[in-house]
Amino acid sequence: MKTAAIIVAAGRGTRVGGSVPKQYANLAGRSVIAWTLSAFARHEDVTHIQVAIHPDDTELYARATMPASSKLLPPVHGGATRQLSVLKGLEALSGRNIAKVLIHDAARPFVQQTTISTVISALDTDRGALAAVPLADTLKLCDETDHVADTIPRDRLWRAQTPQGFKFDDILAAHTSAAASGRDDFTDDAALAEWAGIPVKLVEDDNGNTKITTNADLTRANLLMNTLLTPHIGTGFDVHRFGPGNHVILGGVEIPHTHALQGHSDADVVLHALTDAVLGALGDGDIGQHFPPSDPKWKGAASHIFLQDAVNRVAIRGGQIANADVTVLCEAPKIGPHRDAIKARVANIMGLQPRRIGIKATTTEGLGFTGRQEGIAAMASVMLLLP
Ligand code: MG
Repeated sequence: MKTAAIIVAAGRGTRVGGSVPKQYANLAGRSVIAWTLSAFARHEDVTHIQVAIHPDDTELYARATMPASSKLLPPVHGGATRQLSVLKGLEALSGRNIAKVLIHDAARPFVQQTTISTVISALDTDRGALAAVPLADTLKLCDETDHVADTIPRDRLWRAQTPQGFKFDDILAAHTSAAASGRDDFTDDAALAEWAGIPVKLVEDDNGNTKITTNADLTRANLLMNTLLTPHIGTGFDVHRFGPGNHVILGGVEIPHTHALQGHSDADVVLHALTDAVLGALGDGDIGQHFPPSDPKWKGAASHIFLQDAVNRVAIRGGQIANADVTVLCEAPKIGPHRDAIKARVANIMGLQPRRIGIKATTTEGLGFTGRQEGIAAMASVMLLLP
């Protein structure tokens, strides 16, 4: 049974200040929406993710979602209100045979896996389910002069959060008829469901699944996210021997040379060492285990496939790459003239800023196999931050 998540990211949300809408603000080294998306991407029951974005944010979104989960569908442009953006997302999903859909705010990056699970399973027995928190504070009703007029009993009051889950056909029909009747002002989908007569079950959520709205929220979120992440270090080492040819490929960049590197794939020692460093930091085997040289599928393969796979594994674990550092060991070719190109290409493959990538080279003073120019070696270190 297919379950989709719609992530609502079309708002301008500039109350946090800064030059970008809050869903693209920096949260512990990634954008807020990148954290939100990885929470849904790594949930095993979520099969599709549909994001509704503002048309002005196309580039911000593309940067925020690199590398992209295979569950992520191309984004749709949202509408004038949150409600109309959700409708666009629902329409984009129709025809995909989706049974359940969760609708979630991009600005809630702390959503727990258990919350997603509970909302999905509530839909086995209910038509709608809403992640919500029972109120802990005493509520006051004020008069026109900001004095207390009344105290409101809180025992049946909850704060509505997201995700909010529904049977797909139900909520699409409700949204379509709300828009057709000229309503476009529902601030959440549970309110629209209520209007359409769909019963919505309250599912108790944790207090941490807050929405980042103000700059203070963002500061608090950064502090919290940083305490949830632990550094993990990984190292990689690779060697390939020289054979006949007129260029080598290092860090995905073709460099003219008197020889080529031999190997089952394109023999890119830089990308192979980096792949092993990422896998090492994840404690997830090595490149030979995930891409066995015995498999003809990888013959002549461009090695960015291996590194991108490793980087995706980091995203699936909800982690991020802090930095990567490489040393190439060879007498020739000279790496210096190609350093910036390699840095840019590796940064692109790993979805990082070039300043987070170190590319260095050294000779071995004529000593050993690299000194005798029998091949090229590369060493890599990677720092991951993992939840
Ligand atoms: Mg290799």
